[in-house]
Amino acid sequence: MIYAYIENSNGKYKKSAFEAVSYAKTLADNLNDSVTALTFNSEENSEVLYKYGASQVVNVKNEALKTFNPKTYASVIEQIADGTLFVFSHSGESLSIAPYLAKAKNAAYITNVIAVPESVSPFRAKRNSFSGKAIALVETSMPNLLITIAQGAVGIKENPVQGSEENPVVTVAEDPHYKVESVEKSSEKLNLKEAELVVSGGRGMKSPENWGILEDLAETLGAATACSKPVADSGWRPHAEHVGQTGKSIAPKLYIAIGISGAIQHLAGVNGSKTMVVINNDPEAPFFKSADYGVVADLFEAVPKLTEKLRDFKG
Ligand SMILES: Cc1cc2nc3c(=O)[nH]c(=O)nc-3n(C[C@H](O)[C@H](O)[C@H](O)COP(=O)(O)OP(=O)(O)OC[C@H]3O[C@@H](n4cnc5c(N)ncnc54)[C@H](O)[C@@H]3O)c2cc1C
Repeated sequence: MIYAYIENSNGKYKKSAFEAVSYAKTLADNLNDSVTALTFNSEENSEVLYKYGASQVVNVKNEALKTFNPKTYASVIEQIADGTLFVFSHSGESLSIAPYLAKAKNAAYITNVIAVPESVSPFRAKRNSFSGKAIALVETSMPNLLITIAQGAVGIKENPVQGSEENPVVTVAEDPHYKVESVEKSSEKLNLKEAELVVSGGRGMKSPENWGILEDLAETLGAATACSKPVADSGWRPHAEHVGQTGKSIAPKLYIAIGISGAIQHLAGVNGSKTMVVINNDPEAPFFKSADYGVVADLFEAVPKLTEKLRDFKG
């Protein structure tokens, strides 16, 4: 049995969940096995997971699991999942659950996988390493295996199967060492992790008052907004927008970087983007080396002009 862990946000499946199911289905087809999608307190119809190849959906409905605790989640998965192969997303949530489960299952743990496996048994696949600067080909012959798959790297593939849903009753042990004191909801209009278009600003924006031009561009495109770490650290933008090695890792179709130098720690979170456009007035800015399109210009002139042109185009 191959398990795909399905993340949901307020009961709605995240895009990365469909990638996890699609990937698990590829493994299942190779091993003549089937996929069980495992989720907590989902409010969505399981049909959508059958469409990507899950023939069983285990949706654990339990009040105690409405507060996220990685250790508790891992112990519940351990209780109900008797499989040997587990597919997770390479996201903050999954990356905090998976190591507990890997330990409990005495499993090999391969993170940040970026391609379908070259071999399923033994499992051999490519993974991102050194913040996306290198690709490693890794192999394991351990019988139990957990993998996390990089967002946007392997894609979503429809593979409809007949499915059924189960809602098992589980025991949720209290964790005296873990307490959520408060929850701060992100103010972002569009979910940055899921957005297909992202407009991002760095220190070159000079001050938070200047963000209006970036927001105008984002609104015209229907894009989410992001920022570099120093921008969030200075309180110019909320931390929920911080992308990079220590922030969110995103893989939109289009990433527009405005006044961002392109430090390796920033690129680590955005280099999965399909197309990168960089606007910077320094032709030597390192970001230009990674960009698909570069505009050497003063952002305060270029960005409003770009927005105007896009509005004309849309009109
Ligand atoms: C352990 C560690 C983890 C880190 N994690 C992250 C992370 O997750 N995310 C992250 O972003 N950073 C991270 N950093 C910081 C990173 O190294 C850089 O310092 C940071 O990304 C720089 O942010 P910036 O590009 O906004 O600012 P700067 O490096 O100051 O770049 C500003 C850019 O704006 C351009 N500019 C200035 N004025 C204009 C103008 N008028 N028009 C056009 N362009 C202009 C400049 O040419 C420059 O290239 C981390 C660092 C460390 C050590």
